[in-house]
Amino acid sequence: MKAAVLEDVRMLNVQEIPMPVPKPGEVLIKVAFCGICTLEQRLYRGDMKIYYPIVPGHEVSGEVVEIPEGTATQLKPGDKVAVDMVYRCHECYFCRSGQSNLCENRFNKQVKPLGGFSEYIAVKPSQVYVTGDALSLEEAAFCEPVACCIRSLKKLNVTLAEDVLIIGAGPMGLMHLQAARTMGARVFVSDIDDSRLAAALELGADGVYNPRNTDAAAELKQLTGGRGVDACVLTSPAQSALENAFQAVRKNGRVNIYTAYTGPSPTLPLDMNTLHRNEILVTGTEGRTEADFQQAVRLLTFGRIKVKPLISRIVGFEDLEEGILAAMGTETQRVLLGTQI
Ligand SMILES: [Zn+2]
Ligand SMILES: [Zn+2]
Repeated sequence: MKAAVLEDVRMLNVQEIPMPVPKPGEVLIKVAFCGICTLEQRLYRGDMKIYYPIVPGHEVSGEVVEIPEGTATQLKPGDKVAVDMVYRCHECYFCRSGQSNLCENRFNKQVKPLGGFSEYIAVKPSQVYVTGDALSLEEAAFCEPVACCIRSLKKLNVTLAEDVLIIGAGPMGLMHLQAARTMGARVFVSDIDDSRLAAALELGADGVYNPRNTDAAAELKQLTGGRGVDACVLTSPAQSALENAFQAVRKNGRVNIYTAYTGPSPTLPLDMNTLHRNEILVTGTEGRTEADFQQAVRLLTFGRIKVKPLISRIVGFEDLEEGILAAMGTETQRVLLGTQI
């Protein structure tokens, strides 16, 4: 079967590798689509390293094709599914306390993390979520990123009738926007790219701001009785985004640094006295739990989060490298690998 192996920084080789043989306790999935997320872009550029060689890819949809004897599961061959490609050991402290997104063994070399840039994968049934016919397989590849947005908004305790600012109108920003609206918030989006702001308005943003020509914090304060927004999510790694978040958030507001900062020194330019006096809570979020994943599947199935408009391009293995490079630019939202193309 075909797989794209990242041999080293910027060395992606599409090659024939042996088909995985599912062991008892596993199922075989024929991959249909796999999103090219920022994680894959970082691995490709070498900003983030797990190990080499590695088959990237963690936003997988596909079909169950084989269930070997000795696998107890409700899955059936032919089921259309989304796959949660992170390994959760279910034994460590974090797994056992409901925080499996922080599993200590998730990047353990023995368990082969990621792997979605392949034609077939063998995974545990607990990683597989049936998406049914309500979702296309293209849409089902968005279950993972939507799940991460749900984790982010839950961590911020976003609730009914709150004001939320999303900084960055890339794919993660636009999924956060829709998830936060579903949770009952009024949602504002800021970005320096006007075409991305137009996409945010199309997907329901209650207001959009380009910090190059608008003082978003001042306008948001005016809309909120002088207070500022209740919560803010940074989906842009720019340091100016963090400064904007602190100007826009109210006293006792919450800020989630959702995305990794890829510059040389990811240190916060924080005024300790501002944090102290204004009781601002700052957090990050990492991945998603099984509960988040299940909720993402359901929200997508209900049609509450629209992801079709986020698909900019679908590439085959032959164009995958080009697709990764395109995904890094602001003129695309999500680029998907279609493994059967
Ligand atoms: Zn664990
Ligand atoms: Zn992702």
